[in-house]
Amino acid sequence: MSKFTCPTCGKSHDELPVYAFEGPTFWKAADAEERKNFDLGPDLCRYKDEHFLIRARLQIPVLGEPDNPLEFGVWVAISKDNWWKYRTTYMDFNATAMGVFYGWLANALPGYEDSVNLKVEVRPQGQAMRPLLVLEPTDHPLAREQQNGITAETAMKYLHDWGGF
Ligand SMILES: [Zn+2]
Repeated sequence: MSKFTCPTCGKSHDELPVYAFEGPTFWKAADAEERKNFDLGPDLCRYKDEHFLIRARLQIPVLGEPDNPLEFGVWVAISKDNWWKYRTTYMDFNATAMGVFYGWLANALPGYEDSVNLKVEVRPQGQAMRPLLVLEPTDHPLAREQQNGITAETAMKYLHDWGGF
């Protein structure tokens, strides 16, 4: 990222910080009493016996910067069966053995309308890396940006606009 001067602040950013969510949006919106029903950790979240979520990475490619995507640390709702399977395998070096499964985005990304419940493919990475997400190819701006990429200037402006830096 060093060859770019940020159009917003004038500095050059060596790398883009991950825009991370501490928990899913419905956890964030819950009051203190309701939060007691959540079991929330760094990688796994469960709400009663009803909602099962995992932490994953949603990357938007930055054009000309293959090692510097705009990355969101997001939560994904998955099926109860997959959650238990994931829970017992995600720390494994070979966590990819679980294969690809499906989920639904559980964070409202600022600047993108209706990102909650977008369908995603979850791809376990193994080697203690959080899984990568691939959005279902729809006309949603997030899906189009993941397919087409965005410019470094757009990525830096996004992070400034929404408090990511
Ligand atoms: Zn900047």
